[in-house]
Amino acid sequence: MILQKSTKKERCVLDMRKENCIFCKIMEGEIPSSTIYEDGDFKVILDINPAAKGHAIILPKEHYENIYELPEELAGKAMVLAKKLAAHMTEKLECDGFNLIQNNGEIAGQTVFHFHLHLIPRYQDGNNKDLLTWNVLQYQEGETDKLAELLKID
Ligand code: 5GP
Ligand code: ZN
Repeated sequence: MILQKSTKKERCVLDMRKENCIFCKIMEGEIPSSTIYEDGDFKVILDINPAAKGHAIILPKEHYENIYELPEELAGKAMVLAKKLAAHMTEKLECDGFNLIQNNGEIAGQTVFHFHLHLIPRYQDGNNKDLLTWNVLQYQEGETDKLAELLKID
């Protein structure tokens, strides 16, 4: 879809990215992976560098770089699948909590530029020191009203 709108030069860059994409290579079977689920749209594999044992990632079979490129229909299906897997993995792993994490862009922590949704089981006495955290900011008076106005959507 994106490709139809791209210039020749952009198309080249996109093809290069896709060509060198680790997750596309996993999809093609060029790189091995431990697969826990597969259907026509997705493959779900164990992350090679897990935040916790059982950390998995949902990958669309087609290459979409991020949430902006991902078609709405697949975004919906990915969330339905995440819900199903969260329940299934929690039962099997007997974990105490569960994170869904999805990074877009380098600044947001994305390192592989093929959309993926992290499924991370959390354990009470587990590897929890690097949980996603942030220092909270403070709004100026009236700032939340302005922002809410800016962000309002039908
Ligand atoms: P991101 O940082 O882009 O949100 O997440 C990329 C994830 O892909 C990382 O957690 C990383 O460990 C995982 N990853 C990178 N290369 C491979 C690989 O070759 N195989 C698997 N199974 N996971 C990978
Ligand atoms: Zn890819």
